[in-house]
Amino acid sequence: MKIIDLHCDTIARLTETGENLYQNQGHFDLIRAQQANLVLQVFSLFVYPAEQSRTLKGILQQIDRFYQEIEQNSQLVYLLLYMTDYKPDNNRLAALLHLEGGECLGTDQEVLRILYRLGLRSVGLTWNDRNLLADGVKEGQNAGGLSRVGRKMIQEMKRLGMLLDLSHIAPAGFYQAIDEYQGPVLVTHANVRKFCDHPRNLDDNQLKALANSGGIIGLSQVSDFVKDIPQPSLDDFIDHIVYVSDLIGVEHVALGSDFDGADQVVLPGIEGYHQLETLLRKRGFYTHELEMIFSMNVERVIKQILK
Ligand SMILES: [Zn+2]
Repeated sequence: MKIIDLHCDTIARLTETGENLYQNQGHFDLIRAQQANLVLQVFSLFVYPAEQSRTLKGILQQIDRFYQEIEQNSQLVYLLLYMTDYKPDNNRLAALLHLEGGECLGTDQEVLRILYRLGLRSVGLTWNDRNLLADGVKEGQNAGGLSRVGRKMIQEMKRLGMLLDLSHIAPAGFYQAIDEYQGPVLVTHANVRKFCDHPRNLDDNQLKALANSGGIIGLSQVSDFVKDIPQPSLDDFIDHIVYVSDLIGVEHVALGSDFDGADQVVLPGIEGYHQLETLLRKRGFYTHELEMIFSMNVERVIKQILK
């Protein structure tokens, strides 16, 4: 079965460890991705917001690293820029570039447009902190919504044909961003409050608003977001898939591992996804539903947004 995963932090990890995308000790590499029949991976660019003075430079360095990996492994991976490029059956992984947190944008749409030209196709306005565009979940009860510049940034993203990712943003901004974007939004890596009351997870109202936009949630492998116990199981993770499917419909569910973004994850890495398929069948999912969760829902949304 074809697999699409909405979020990994592999590029940032490789930049730190010096390993390569072809084969490495982390959660994700190209050899295992091919064996797992992965057809599209969203690769996140991420620099800690605390490193204010060098976020843009850090992001540019990660983009450079990404291009080097694509050149060295062009038989296995290609950069997805336009929907006409998307060829899920050619044995090569489509890579879509995502910016996690808008710190490097500041207030400048010019920077957004330049990054678009460099291949960026998805943006999350915040990581956990407050920035010039919006507040992240770490701001807690006092978190505000979108700034005026944040609203303008969303309008420009929509005009360019970029995906909007609402993982990490605080609830006020979450709802405002959905109104502003006027299209299907993504939450690429989070789970549900029902089973794990973590600020990064969504409550039922947020899930319904996401579904009303036509959007999707990529459910995450991160143990802290699955269950508040030492070692949650794969079945605990599947509880989230079942719950969201029942609440808002299977057409709004996808996979967003957050591989290489956290130490404790439920699956060992990208190679574990076949196990997930087997267990989901045992929990009563039909083949066509699994195809939707594993790839078709994401394909539907990116076809609507990417030019
Ligand atoms: Zn994240």
